[in-house]
Amino acid sequence: MSQVSIRDQIKKLVQLQTLDYDIYNFKKDLKDKPDFIEQLKTKFEDKKGNLKQLEDKLKTLLLDRKSKEGDLLAKEGEIAKANTQLFSLKTNKEYQAKLLEIEHMKADKSMIEEKILLLFDEIDSINAQIEKEKKIVTEEEKKLLAQKKEVDDSIKDIQERMSKLESERRLISPEVNPAYLSRYERILENKGGIALVPVKGHVCGGCFMNIPEQSINEIKMHDHFVFCEMCARILFLEDDL
Ligand SMILES: [Zn+2]
Repeated sequence: MSQVSIRDQIKKLVQLQTLDYDIYNFKKDLKDKPDFIEQLKTKFEDKKGNLKQLEDKLKTLLLDRKSKEGDLLAKEGEIAKANTQLFSLKTNKEYQAKLLEIEHMKADKSMIEEKILLLFDEIDSINAQIEKEKKIVTEEEKKLLAQKKEVDDSIKDIQERMSKLESERRLISPEVNPAYLSRYERILENKGGIALVPVKGHVCGGCFMNIPEQSINEIKMHDHFVFCEMCARILFLEDDL
């Protein structure tokens, strides 16, 4: 490689680097977007959890009420039966005993009725909470959809900008020696989208470590690529191009 050629290659790479830094960050952005949407969805599902809990509780209460209503019917049947038995009893003692039994059954019946009334109250309150929670979930869903749309729009925007940058890149990259290009691209991938950095006042523009005088002289010779010893990026001098 002649001196002119290395200088020329670096110039091309500087042009590429400007594009590639943006492309690298756009790609990273695009990679993060689906995760972000997943996070929003998970948060939303969590918020729906409250509603699910309330609905489960309602189901349990309704079943409980149904079973208590069954108990009530059974108890009423027992009382009716005992009442008819009253007339067939022979002795006063038997009669008094049956009356007492009926009193006990009636007491049981009112206890069941009381429990049913309490269940009605509890079910009303759960229903009110469910209505409230449903409104919250609807609001959250609206928010989620709006956020998702925002993300989708920004994905579209990034993709458009990226494809512009990539077509610009396609105009320049064939002018770089493939071996240099692949080396540059490897560094790009490993070093956060920055493969080529200027040396400014003896400091590497990538890692900010000192660059020895000897390396700076080598850069000026344009004989080969010079790398930062710390961060392994390709170095160049802005006013030397
Ligand atoms: Zn460095």
